[in-house]
Amino acid sequence: MLDNTPRSLRINIAIIGCCNVGKSSLFNALTKQNVAIVSSKSGTTTDAVAKPYELLPLGPVTFFDTAGLDDSEEIGNLRINATYKILFKTDVAVLVVGKNGITQKDKEVVDYLNKTNTPFVIAFNQTDLIKPNIGDIDFCRSHNIPFVEVSAINDVNINLLKEIIINSVPEELKKNPLIVADLLKKNDTVILVVPIDLSAPKGRLILPQVQVLRELLDANVNAVVVKENNLLSMLDNLKQHPALVITDSQVVNQVANILPPTIKMTTFSTLFARYKADINVLIKGAEKIDNLCSGDKILIAEACSHHALADDIAKVKIPRWLQNYCHCDLVFDFCSGSDFPQNLEDYNLVIHCGACMLNSVEMTHRLKECVCRGIPITNYGLVISKTQNLLQRICEPFI
Ligand code: SF4
Repeated sequence: MLDNTPRSLRINIAIIGCCNVGKSSLFNALTKQNVAIVSSKSGTTTDAVAKPYELLPLGPVTFFDTAGLDDSEEIGNLRINATYKILFKTDVAVLVVGKNGITQKDKEVVDYLNKTNTPFVIAFNQTDLIKPNIGDIDFCRSHNIPFVEVSAINDVNINLLKEIIINSVPEELKKNPLIVADLLKKNDTVILVVPIDLSAPKGRLILPQVQVLRELLDANVNAVVVKENNLLSMLDNLKQHPALVITDSQVVNQVANILPPTIKMTTFSTLFARYKADINVLIKGAEKIDNLCSGDKILIAEACSHHALADDIAKVKIPRWLQNYCHCDLVFDFCSGSDFPQNLEDYNLVIHCGACMLNSVEMTHRLKECVCRGIPITNYGLVISKTQNLLQRICEPFI
């Protein structure tokens, strides 16, 4: 049951460090299972190993065991890149230091973690063999780095390490940020508009809809779910106007035509833009659509890979809506999965999916990659609303 928490709602904890410092042993000690292969041979951990775990009193987390950051084998660079990709979505890192003490590579990693504002703790492992030297302890103290001496194979100080990890989790993550309940009062009524079309998964709602519903129930807000064709009859049935209507972006125009301007409306995508990252950056990105010209390149980025249907949102609908809105010929590139391209400078705009499967650290990282290169970034829902001249209306509940 505990493994059922979606990965985007778990706090990600990465075990990183050089080869042969006992990362996999520590990973196994922390998760109390032999998930990772332990070997004294360098480079045993190739792809990162992930283990969901209930780290009480914090809650659901995922521990990642990663490849050594000083891997010198032929495919070492690929492994190191894979480790950095894990760091893009890491909430707290555990930098494991072995019997050789803090190395130059460890210091480079410390610089990287500081630069990316990633909270971390240093675990001096293998203390059954040798204690950390005074210089390394001084290094931690002078850089305000929390540290602990552990022995993974003898299970020494593993619980203390867990406590330090929990204390290192940023307060805003511990507080469980809200998707929408902060905009509502107890006993308000909210209508959720959920189209059931070919792209809807069989027999279930999608994660953003489920998360919003659950949060409304937790906040004692009345939630009504309708398809777009039943919205009008639902409004007629209600004694009072709903406090908010939340719609799937793909029917935002239809919903806006039904609702009187006095009823506030927004989209699931807009709520998740606010929940996962800096919504102001994403709104500004959507506004840049007005400046697009023929030949401009657009990157459409999806965080998951899936089989595209005939009227696929990324490949077909968004390009069509954008071309119609801009009245010019735009060039589209697509990427999906965990790879976010490095050649972002080649694009005039990045349009990202709703990121429901990414945690906010990973989405914020993607935003930063664009912002620091001066490339506007927005998301599907905001683009759809913009091309239907509804951007201002769906943002009104927040501004
Ligand atoms: S592609 Fe994006 S919006 Fe779609 S399920 Fe994956 S993370 Fe969510």
